[in-house]
Amino acid sequence: MDFQVNGTLIQQYYICKREVWLTSRNLSGDQDNENLQIGKIIAEFTYKRNNKEVDIGGSKIDLIKIENGELVVGEVKKSSRFLESAEKQLLFYLLQLKEMGVNARGELLIPEEKEKIAVVLDAGSEEEIRAAMTDIEHIVEGQLPPQAVKIKYCRNCAYSEFCWA
Ligand code: SF4
Repeated sequence: MDFQVNGTLIQQYYICKREVWLTSRNLSGDQDNENLQIGKIIAEFTYKRNNKEVDIGGSKIDLIKIENGELVVGEVKKSSRFLESAEKQLLFYLLQLKEMGVNARGELLIPEEKEKIAVVLDAGSEEEIRAAMTDIEHIVEGQLPPQAVKIKYCRNCAYSEFCWA
């Protein structure tokens, strides 16, 4: 399978590993390559240094500013639900950027709750995201999905009927 870990899978990984497996089976070979999209962000940002909204793998990323020579990427969330998974997804993007030679830090923005949470890719979080990426590859290689475990998220999950009908 032509498979690449993306931000959506990272986010799902921290909510439900079964969803990771199910989503991986729905990915087509010509899915938008996030690395290309991140490359495009950098290119666009070089030309236009102001707020810019970019869609990476279905996640809305607002490029905010350059501070002290560092790119700050902000992700807007409607609420603080599933904050941990949103943070890990942003860390994944920061890691992608780092691998392209771009140092960036992140901000999770929750306008409705007037919250701004700093997200910094340090050695510990980088190791964690790399481990998650490896684990996602193992999950996806499995012949069967992980067992369904009922969680709050199931109610709004696209696979709810499949898992619980
Ligand atoms: S319905 Fe629940 S168990 Fe099934 S994939 Fe979604 S979150 Fe996971």
